[in-house]
Amino acid sequence: MMDECIFCRIVSGKIPSQRVYEDGEVLAIRDINPQAPVHLLVLPKAHVASVSDVSKSDTQLIGAIILAATHLAKTEGLEERGFRLVINAGPEGGQTVPHLHVHLLGGRQMRWPPG
Ligand code: AMP
Ligand code: ZN
Repeated sequence: MMDECIFCRIVSGKIPSQRVYEDGEVLAIRDINPQAPVHLLVLPKAHVASVSDVSKSDTQLIGAIILAATHLAKTEGLEERGFRLVINAGPEGGQTVPHLHVHLLGGRQMRWPPG
């Protein structure tokens, strides 16, 4: 566990969050600064800095994160309307928290290209 990482501190409960889903390896919380009516973050409980650091041994974990995200899209009522999953990586990717997370965004029309 990385003690200085904000999402590791959320996983351990040292920083409060609105948990919407949890299993042995994945946690989902509501984003503190939502960019859409539904804005969740799905993250591995174990510290992984970036999607760039994911290796073959993480294949099952990445699958579990995507399945949690699509499960939440259903429970948040987004399955028919549609939704967006986003992973930001690195400075130009707009990543601000260096602990891998998938954004689940929905409840409004998404635009393309993203900003
Ligand atoms: P990214 O910019 O892709 O790294 O996404 C980081 C996200 O984490 C942003 O959407 C932030 O609003 C969100 N965030 C930062 N701190 C917290 C927190 N304490 N609880 C929930 N979401 C947070
Ligand atoms: Zn972390």
